[in-house]
Amino acid sequence: MTHHATQTLLELGYRMTPQRTLVWDVLRQSGEHLTAEQICARVQEQFPHVNMSTVYRTLELLVELNLVKETCLGPSRRYYEVEEEVPHHHLVCEHCGKIVHIHDEDLGNLPRLLEREQGFVAEELTVFGHCLDCGGDHAHP
Ligand SMILES: [Zn+2]
Ligand SMILES: [Zn+2]
Repeated sequence: MTHHATQTLLELGYRMTPQRTLVWDVLRQSGEHLTAEQICARVQEQFPHVNMSTVYRTLELLVELNLVKETCLGPSRRYYEVEEEVPHHHLVCEHCGKIVHIHDEDLGNLPRLLEREQGFVAEELTVFGHCLDCGGDHAHP
């Protein structure tokens, strides 16, 4: 287990409140990218009285503490996921919403090219497109 949220929180002087535990568990167990609304819905399955603003506040804190990563994958599409040790990039299917992780080694020469040609250091990439399952007209033969 790479993440000890409870310990991190304690070390930084926070308590692991039930709400924080719930939000953290939802994210960790899903292993997906979830919106705040989805997280809230899952928390409410267990604790119906937890409201949206509590979930937002909790997410804000977990992001601040680098336990959770917040990624903007398009306008009004903020996703939360458990922070990984290795930086990763996202491929986003605009049709079905599928999100795939790629890592630095998948980028090949691109970061070096961007740095050399554009004077730009790419830290995190998001690529919008469609997966082959959603290929439609553009699918490969
Ligand atoms: Zn798709
Ligand atoms: Zn991700």
